[in-house]
Amino acid sequence: MNDPEFPEDDHDFASHSGDGGGEESAGPARPIPVELHSFYEDRPFRSCTRCGEALEFFEEGYRVSKIHRESEVLFEYALCLPCLKNLYEESSEESRERLMRFQMERYREVSGFEECVFCDTWRPGEGRAEYGLIGICLGLDLLESNLVCGGCMEAMSALVSEQTRKSWDRFVEENFPGVPAGFEPMPIRGPVSLV
Ligand SMILES: [Zn+2]
Ligand SMILES: [Zn+2]
Repeated sequence: MNDPEFPEDDHDFASHSGDGGGEESAGPARPIPVELHSFYEDRPFRSCTRCGEALEFFEEGYRVSKIHRESEVLFEYALCLPCLKNLYEESSEESRERLMRFQMERYREVSGFEECVFCDTWRPGEGRAEYGLIGICLGLDLLESNLVCGGCMEAMSALVSEQTRKSWDRFVEENFPGVPAGFEPMPIRGPVSLV
């Protein structure tokens, strides 16, 4: 993998993930951490939440998202690249532009689950607030991971149009009956872009 956008210096990530360290030369990929495993299946995600295809066959990777509220996993999903693109394309152009601008303006060069990728909020303590964990994965490897704090999730949610919100809500309704609508399943634009 020679993605020119991937930062060569990923020492920060290694220190955050605390997975033994000293493996900077092993390349950007590392095993998917337990925090990004499916809580319900108690193992890494195997299939796309939307289309059901086996994730290991997507050569361009997939995205895992887990939304926590207080100490529980509110909901979680894994989306293959084609499904992510479809969700993105179902959003209005205005929403896409606003979200892209928000993400481009605020994107910070941080990886891992310690601090928000869009602001300087640190991960809330146990039993507090809401936050999202996101991992860009390829097979059983993690390429990039980020935390988005509750405030930034809300801010992004406020940027989208009625039409976009409806299409996201439909995704949530179809896949997570009983979960309140209004969450953000959009791709995060980072070093490994899935847009
Ligand atoms: Zn899919
Ligand atoms: Zn934030």
